Amino acid sequence: MGIRLGCIADDFTGATDLANNLVRAGMRVVQLIDTPPDHDAQAADADAVVIALKSRTVPAADAVAAALRALARLRSMGAEQIYFKYCSTFDSTPAGNIGPVTEALMDALGTDFTVATPAFPDNGRTVFKGHLFVGDVLLGDSGMRHHPLTPMTDSNLVSVLGAQTTRAVGLVDHTVVADGPAAIRSRVDALRADGFGIAVVDAVSNDDLVRLGAAVQGFPLVTAGSGLAIGLPSNWGFRPSRAAAQLPPSAGHRAIVSGSVSVTTNRQVLQYLRGGGPAFSVDPLRVAAGEDVVGQALAFAESHLDDGPVLVYSTESADTVRTVQGRLGAAEAGELVERTLARVAQGLVERGVRRLVVAGGETSGAVVQSLGITGLRIGPQIDPGVPWCAAPLPGGDTLHITLKSGNFGGPDFFTSSFALLDQEAA
Ligand code: ADP
Repeated sequence: MGIRLGCIADDFTGATDLANNLVRAGMRVVQLIDTPPDHDAQAADADAVVIALKSRTVPAADAVAAALRALARLRSMGAEQIYFKYCSTFDSTPAGNIGPVTEALMDALGTDFTVATPAFPDNGRTVFKGHLFVGDVLLGDSGMRHHPLTPMTDSNLVSVLGAQTTRAVGLVDHTVVADGPAAIRSRVDALRADGFGIAVVDAVSNDDLVRLGAAVQGFPLVTAGSGLAIGLPSNWGFRPSRAAAQLPPSAGHRAIVSGSVSVTTNRQVLQYLRGGGPAFSVDPLRVAAGEDVVGQALAFAESHLDDGPVLVYSTESADTVRTVQGRLGAAEAGELVERTLARVAQGLVERGVRRLVVAGGETSGAVVQSLGITGLRIGPQIDPGVPWCAAPLPGGDTLHITLKSGNFGGPDFFTSSFALLDQEAA
């Protein structure tokens, strides 16, 4: 039997967020990185597969091509419904990808109607009368207004999406959603009859998403942030269960690699250091000067790994990072650190680390690539949006890994994550 739900996500951490929601709603989920040549074996007993693309800010034609490749793979695995996942702040430009990818998927799937809602009330993203709110403010009044790559100045998703697609975009508003799945379906039928191809759907609560989830049962395509994932698994009879999040048993050395410079990660590093855990600080200026910092970090780790988790980090305050960037250039410093930490992670795994915490979105991408990881089985949630995962290593072993983007996780994340694994094993 094939998979039920096939998902295409436009970035890596968003894909994990979606996968995490599906697992919590009772599905067994595998996340693939891009569309690898052959991963049917790893996905053999999965209920849903999420393919993580890196397409949010690439030209529309490239995003369409990547999405269609992913679609072909998901269909070959038997996917009965396709979920196109974008950011909960609808990150895109008028020349952006969400509309073109949606249309291309509709054409390929032969469907004339789909829904769109980035709402995720648990994360403060709600849609009301087609307008997207971030916390208490409209999207266009939020920090997203000044985003360097995808500035969002219009909060009205009907017009934002309308500018990106040739299909007529309508609205299913909250009064209809409140009346339940049957009311949503009849509104959809009416929009369809009037020539609309896409409906933005209001959702201000999880209940709204659950009602929408039931209403879109049998739709070939849905498009949403990660929130709608809470409302879909029950369409196939899935119920929340611990079994859905079960990973193979974990063993082996433990380590943390942190290249995130966010405020949250700074706090997590500080808390870990205060607890007296062994830690090695990577100084980008010493790397740039040609010192063998990777070798030093690994020698340090080797002498401490028997006793518990070891932290290797480049995490510094914003001031220190600015100084480094001033000396090396921001992009150059970023790449240098990512490359260094990726090599450290590789060396740690060669030295028997099988439980690895990685902090930083870009850092995670670099580490996953250097370890040759192409697929992750999604396990139990450590903190909102951050699950443990299990990944087959090229040599045949299993690596337990969690990939935490900057602002996620509680202050004790570097210890609570390992405690959760121990608890699962007990
Ligand atoms: P986050 O998820 O917090 O944004 P990322 O890993 O995505 O974390 O991004 C952090 C960026 O900062 C990476 O490119 C990383 O290489 C870079 N970086 C990390 N530490 C330093 C440092 N000490 N000085 C300069 N740049 C750094």
